[in-house]
Amino acid sequence: MLLTTMGVVIGERVYGENDKFVDIFTKDYGIIEVTVKGGRKLNSKNYAATSLFSYSKFCVRKRGERYYLNSSEIENTFYNLRLDIKKLALASYFAELLKYTVLSYDSDESYEFILKLLLNTLYYLEKGSHNIMLLKSIFEFRLLSEIGLIPNLIGCSVCNAYSHSKMHFNIQDGKLYCDNCFSGNDGYNTIIINESTLSALRHISLSDMNVLFNIKVSDKLLDELNKITDRYTYAHINRSFKTLEYFKNIS
Ligand SMILES: [Zn+2]
Repeated sequence: MLLTTMGVVIGERVYGENDKFVDIFTKDYGIIEVTVKGGRKLNSKNYAATSLFSYSKFCVRKRGERYYLNSSEIENTFYNLRLDIKKLALASYFAELLKYTVLSYDSDESYEFILKLLLNTLYYLEKGSHNIMLLKSIFEFRLLSEIGLIPNLIGCSVCNAYSHSKMHFNIQDGKLYCDNCFSGNDGYNTIIINESTLSALRHISLSDMNVLFNIKVSDKLLDELNKITDRYTYAHINRSFKTLEYFKNIS
């Protein structure tokens, strides 16, 4: 059976002398592992299209549970990501996070949106138009929101207050508490969240793709945002990633 789909290469492993396996995050089938015969030869017609982070149209043959590349047509290689070690490290973390979350949660409804999220994030990362820490926050927090790990940021989870001079956010249960309804202590799990950080988190988790990246943040706000999305991701995914550790080490 021949299948045609658009997708981004998010992983590759060598196999045999000239062959490789690639993990492709596709619009229609989520993540598929595809065998690319001769894909490591520089003169292979599929060489660029099956390189890490390339976005291409793939035509694959499905035999049993396995996929074999038939042909490919390249759209964008995001080649310049490879020329900047920090950008490459961050893109590698995105790929690893995506692979882990999409394989574990199987959210077939939102592949198209997640693919757009990935493509836009890689585009802005390569272009250098956005602070790369902002792109990290946007990608991880929106990805989690899309796969069903969206926190309740609409208002206080007890009285529904949309805003309050002092709001508390519980990272573990993903709920907001206004100061009147909050009975616990701010400690490791619960933090005080200011209005601008809350509004940035609402924007990232809920806004349409066409305005998602139109967000301006001060350095201080970005710091807050990074702290929260990093901790939220760790708390809900329950593991760290080698690529993330590496990115943090070189940042
Ligand atoms: Zn309340």
